[in-house]
Parts: sequence; C-alpha cells; structure tokens
Amino acid sequence: MAVLEKGNITIHTENIFPIIKKSLYTDHEIFLRELISNAVDAISKLKMASLAGELSGDVPEPEITITVDKSNKTLSIYDNGIGMTVDEIKKYINQVAFSSAEEFVQKYQKSANDLIGHFGLGFYSAFMVAKQVEIDTLSYKEGAKAVHWSCDGSPEFEITESSKTQIGTTITLTLMDDEQEYLEPQRIRQLVKTYSDFVPVPIKFENETINRQKALWKESPQNLTDEDYLEFYRYLYPFQEDPLLWVHLNTDYPYLLNGILYFPKLRPDVDVSQGHIKLFCNQVFVNDHCEEIIPEFLMPLRGVIDSPDIPLNVSRSALTNHRTVRSIANHIAKKIADRLKSIYNETPEEYIKCWQDVGTFIKYGSLKDDKFKKQVEDILIYKTTYKADKVAGKSKTETPQVQVEGEGDLWEDVTPKTENEEKFSYESEGYTTLPAYLERNKERHENRIFYCTDPDTQATYVELYKNQGLEILFMDSFIDTNYFIPFLEREYSEVKFSRVDAELDDTLVQQDKADEIVDPNTNKTRSDQIKEIFEKALNNNKVNIKTQALKSDTPESTPPAMVLLPEAMRRFR
Ligand code: ADP
Ligand code: MG
Repeated sequence: MAVLEKGNITIHTENIFPIIKKSLYTDHEIFLRELISNAVDAISKLKMASLAGELSGDVPEPEITITVDKSNKTLSIYDNGIGMTVDEIKKYINQVAFSSAEEFVQKYQKSANDLIGHFGLGFYSAFMVAKQVEIDTLSYKEGAKAVHWSCDGSPEFEITESSKTQIGTTITLTLMDDEQEYLEPQRIRQLVKTYSDFVPVPIKFENETINRQKALWKESPQNLTDEDYLEFYRYLYPFQEDPLLWVHLNTDYPYLLNGILYFPKLRPDVDVSQGHIKLFCNQVFVNDHCEEIIPEFLMPLRGVIDSPDIPLNVSRSALTNHRTVRSIANHIAKKIADRLKSIYNETPEEYIKCWQDVGTFIKYGSLKDDKFKKQVEDILIYKTTYKADKVAGKSKTETPQVQVEGEGDLWEDVTPKTENEEKFSYESEGYTTLPAYLERNKERHENRIFYCTDPDTQATYVELYKNQGLEILFMDSFIDTNYFIPFLEREYSEVKFSRVDAELDDTLVQQDKADEIVDPNTNKTRSDQIKEIFEKALNNNKVNIKTQALKSDTPESTPPAMVLLPEAMRRFR
C-alpha cells in the first residue's frame, strides 16, 4: 500500500507538563537528590573539560552549597561546575527529556557512568515542590555571558541577563505553600544523608559539610583493611553487633556492579523476612527495599549494591524476571559461597562461630537453589558426639639433619620443624561433615547415619548409642527436622538415616540403669541385651519403622523465606 503520509508525533506541552510534574516521581522529596546530582555532574564535566585542556585556569575545589531563606521561602543549590551558556539552557533545559550526558561522554570519551544523569528529566522534578524555579549560571566557556532563566511551572519561561560572576550554577526554588518542610534544616540534612551521602563532592549546609563522600564500595578491595569494612558497617548500621562476614562485589562485565554485602550477627529482633540492602546508582541512593536482587535465602544480608544496570522504575515482578537482576542474584550467591568456603578452609574456628547464624541460611539455600547447593555441599557441618584430640601436630620431633654437599661427613642442623601447638579442627570442636562421618564409621556401619532431632527428649537414647561406641549427629534445628533431613535422604540416596529413637524398644531405655541385672529368662545382663540389639540393628538395614513414618509427615516443598526463616532463627538459638 502506498504511504499516504509520514511525520512526527507532537506533544502539547500544556497538557503533558502537569503530568511530568505530578507523575514522574511519586516522592516529592527526591527533587533535592536530582538537583544535587546535576550539580555533581556539572562538576565532573568541568573536570573532563579541564583534562581535555579546555580550561585556562585551574579547576576550583569542587563544592556544592545548599542555602535556605525562610523569609523568601527559597531553597538554593549552588555548584561551581561547568555552568551553561544561553544556548545550552535552550537546548538542555527548555527541551524536556533532553540530556547533555551523551554528548559529553562522547566528546570526552568517558564512560556513561562517569555521570549520574542520563534521561533529561531530573531537573523538572523541582516543579513538584516549587512554584518558581530560577537558574543563574555562567559557563566556563570563553566569552560566555551569565544567564538567568526562570519559569513558574507553566510551559513559559523567561531568559534574562544575570549578574553572576563565578563559573557555575545556582538553582533557586521558591517553594509552594504546602512544601515548606524543605526549608527546615533538619529535613535538608536528612535528605542529603539519605540520598547524596556518598556523592564524591562535599555538600555544604550552614557552614558544614554534611555528606560523607567516600563510597567504600567503589574502592579497590586490595586497598581496604578489615577495619575499613567494619567501620563502614558501623556507619551504615549503628548500634549493631559487628557482622560475621562480608563480600566486596566488583564486576564490570557483563554488567557493572559494585557493592559490599555483610552477613549480620543475627539477633531475635533482626527481621530476616525483609531486605536490608541499600540500592545505589552511581553513588546516589535509590531505595532500600530491593529484595529482588538478593537470593531469597540470603535475605539477612545488609550493605550496599551500586549498579547502573539494574532497571529502576519498573515493577517488582518485572525486576524479578529481569535477566541482569537474576544473574546479579546468582553472582551474589556465588560470592557468598566462595567466602564461606575460604573461611571454612582457612579459619575453622571462625567458621564454627558463624555457623550458628549462617548455617540455617546455607541449608535453606541448598534446598532452594541447586547451583548454590553444589557450591556449599562440602562445607555443611553437623554437631556430633565424636570428639577428636586437639593435638594434631607432632610434639618436639627429632631434629632433621641434612648432609652438606661436598663436605664429607659434615652434617648441618636445619631449623627443627616442631609443631607442638594445639591444632584446631572441626572434629576437635565436636563438628563433622557427613562424608567425614561416613568414612570414620564405615567399618561398623557402612552408609548409615544416626542422628538425634531433640537432645532433651532423646538424651537417654543418645547415651545408649554413645555407650555402644556409636557416633550420633545432632540435626535438631527447625530446618533440620522439617526440611533438611528429608533433603539429605534424597541427596544421599545410598545412605540410610536413622533417628536414634526409631529402632529401640522404649523399655530398654527406661531400664538402662539396671544394666548389670541378669534377666532370668534369657540369662543375660541388660547391657548384653542392649549390645545384641544394637549389633542386630547395625547388621539389619531393614528395621526402621519410625523413621519412615516421620518421613511421610514432612512436606516436600519448601516454604517461602518469610515463613521459614524467622521460625528457624527462633528455634535455632
Ligand atoms: P540529566 O541530568 O538526566 O541530564 P536533567 O533534567 O537533570 O537531566 O538535566 C538536564 C540537563 O540540564 C543536563 O543534562 C545538563 O546539561 C543541564 N543541567 C542541569 N543542571 C545543571 C547544572 N547544575 N549545571 C550545569 N548544567 C546543568
Ligand atoms: Mg539530572
């Protein structure tokens, strides 16, 4: 068919302008974040221009200053950045949704992420709170004249000359009557702390710098000490116990991602059903409820994630299904697993300490995520009745000697390799892995694991087993008894799991005190009888009635974190 006409769709500013002002952002308070971000960008741009040799003098010390004037109901944001010429105002301000960012990064061959703004919409958020917005600006460009722009929120604007003499920009908002809260110093401080605390330019207010600037997550992990990470945690979450472990995320392919995530010391009052991570985009705070980015089983993680590749302003479900977001979640799970593995291998004492809190989540992750399961399956530990001696090293060995070459029968001492310090192992602390358990006990009972699900009510059984020289694992947390034991039974299909009270006659347990009394019917002592029963049970893998019954009671599928985790934690301690 012949094309009758082609053309461009036009927009009626009068109709669309109110929509931009009202609906673009739900939260009025973010206007300050947007204006500060523009100021930061203006300062970065001036630096770019200077590096390209376009500036005659030196770049001034970067500075952003906020002032309020209660009598005039105005709020101003001043920056000593790049400024704008009258043409630039016409281009970037008068045209809504037109950003200069792309031109800049192209011209100076920078990464798009060296600037915060991109879409050309942030500036207009000022009209959510202001009945009048004015710009006073002087460009760094030679011969540029200072310009004054003003607009009362209608699509009409006015440009006049300005008396500004310093390079940079001041944006002045005359606040609407019901937006006067933004004249309160406390409110300003709070907004800067929330949104712009980590932008890399000092923000001054009432003669003070009120933002921290230093974004630890953007620094190279090699340059940071444990103390740096701890100090940052204490800054983000004051009055909390120190975290158990942390990971530094630092990736630029296939997505850009920086961040520091901490596993907190859990306390009953820590809500684990809700995310605690702060999401940033180029050091500007976006929100702190980005559960979608964290795997569900790592919900207690805290800290910051900064990625320009996480789509903002999309619905939660869209976010969950977003490819980048899913792969970031996987990446986080892997980083945590790697960290746990290195703690497991390098500092068992630390691992045992954090196992109390982290163990539940590792188990939960194993149930939920097959990839994660494979990463952590070798570092799952269980409390056991077995205890190894602590001294693993040799005590004072004979001094080894080496013959010095060419010296006939001259012998020389080398440093004695004495290793009489006490060596810490999982077994010395009463912990074991399943493979280690199976290996240790394979002579007496191959592919058989005895476990206790309640040390209180099963105490006598545990004693009886121990007396028979059998090793018992404690799988007594909520997650163990409800989900993890059935899971292990599926995983280790060749292994038979027996609960300590599943095969023994109750009368045996009750009467175990009368061990040496001879039964006139059988002519055997009680302990002989018990021994016999045990030996029989060990040789006969079919007897396991109670365990079977227990198994069929347990749900196959795992419940969501909201249900499982708080309950798990309550029971765990
Ligand atoms: P974005 O920041 O996404 O580019 P904005 O609507 O926030 O979009 O700003 C539009 C443009 O206005 C910016 O790209 C920039 O060119 C210009 N601008 C805004 N504020 C300033 C400022 N303080 N100094 C210099 N230029 C600015
Ligand atoms: Mg902007």
